[in-house]
Amino acid sequence: MALIVHKYGGTSMGSTERIRNVAKRVAKWARAGHQIVVVPSAMSGETNRLLGLAKELAPAKPDTAYNRELDMLASTGEQASSALLAIALQAEGQPSVSYAGWQVAIKTNDAYTKARIESIDDQRVRGDLAAGKVVIITGFQGVDDNGNITTLGRGGSDTSAVAVAAAMKADECLIYTDVDGVYTTDPRVVSEARRLAKVSFEEMLEMASLGSKVLQIRSVEFAGKYKVPMRVLSSFTPWDIDINEEAKSGTLITFEEDEQMEQAIVSGIAFNRDEAKISVLGVPDKPGIAYQILGAVADANIEVDMIIQNVSKDGKTDFSFTVHRNDYARTTDLLKDTVLPALGATEVTGDTKICKVSIVGIGMRSHVGVASKMFRSLSEEGINIQMISTSEIKTSVVIDEKYMELAVRALHKAFDLDQA
Ligand code: ADP
Ligand code: ASP
Ligand code: MG
Repeated sequence: MALIVHKYGGTSMGSTERIRNVAKRVAKWARAGHQIVVVPSAMSGETNRLLGLAKELAPAKPDTAYNRELDMLASTGEQASSALLAIALQAEGQPSVSYAGWQVAIKTNDAYTKARIESIDDQRVRGDLAAGKVVIITGFQGVDDNGNITTLGRGGSDTSAVAVAAAMKADECLIYTDVDGVYTTDPRVVSEARRLAKVSFEEMLEMASLGSKVLQIRSVEFAGKYKVPMRVLSSFTPWDIDINEEAKSGTLITFEEDEQMEQAIVSGIAFNRDEAKISVLGVPDKPGIAYQILGAVADANIEVDMIIQNVSKDGKTDFSFTVHRNDYARTTDLLKDTVLPALGATEVTGDTKICKVSIVGIGMRSHVGVASKMFRSLSEEGINIQMISTSEIKTSVVIDEKYMELAVRALHKAFDLDQA
């Protein structure tokens, strides 16, 4: 008998028919003698619908009182889907109980809309499991020290599931979704993308942080920190497939890197359209400039990703960096109002129509020329590279958004990712 956490995403919970299917699958696992905790997402579209209603009444703003209400609102999506799943399980003859995050309790800090889990009390859950019940815990949410409901950021149910698995020392965390595993790149963009039977934890961490939205980055961080065995698999297989076959399907996120994995120089390609580029032009090239610009941005709680500073000409230089698109207007306003006059720089310009494309692979550690192959492949397509950043196992470039699909396809082919 094992303790297993199942997580079902929004599409998997998207209708009563799908919820019934999830219930049949979960009941099958419980009948096989396992203790099962299920962490569902809201039904697909529900979180967007709720947040859209809020926006109709007042536009999004960096305001604690407003964000508190967004969490109060958005958390209801998971509360509804969890109760529906408990009802469906009971209808299958499987005793089941659902809890909202605060009832467990999943304690978080008070950073509304992007809270971080601090602790999980599993006492109540253990009691129910011992009594033969399947326990359902709402994804995406928790409660702060003052009893306010918080949410964990978009896609946060993955993190709820892995955190519960870590806290309960579960044998495995199975992330059921609408694709049958982690692919070499998003299979909805490149039809030749291939499923990876396993992917190293480090590569998964890079892919998630660079934009592969198949797993929320925090969930991978949790899995790494607490060594939670984790698998991504399909919720769309027939619910009654052989349980042993199901247990081995999908993609295993592994902590052991074998030789075969290092042979693949590039394992995956990630991309994201969430960033915007900002350039401060005509900056005097003297010590303390990067601090003056980026210090002001950091003080406004704005996260910066890629940074480049050009060589100076006549003692002046250009300084560029990227931020999340949602922070674009706030950052340029801030720079124009305060930093530009103080620095004596010429101009602040920006571009929101950019994207970041990244190649990821642990094999990059032991191979040279990987980045240059990437640049060659992009140049053959006539794609201009605006920014570059590298680390041990990834190379990222910023390019014009309109070339994103072309770039991803070209790189997928150049690194033979469509070949098994
Ligand atoms: P869920 O609702 O189950 O959490 P998500 O939409 O958050 O599902 O994540 C699954 C989606 O992630 C897939 O439908 C796919 O389009 C996308 N995706 C992006 N990159 C990858 C990748 N490398 N492998 C698999 N899926 C990916
Ligand atoms: N329902 C939340 C969202 O749409 C959390 C999740 O699905 O993981 O972002
Ligand atoms: Mg998701």
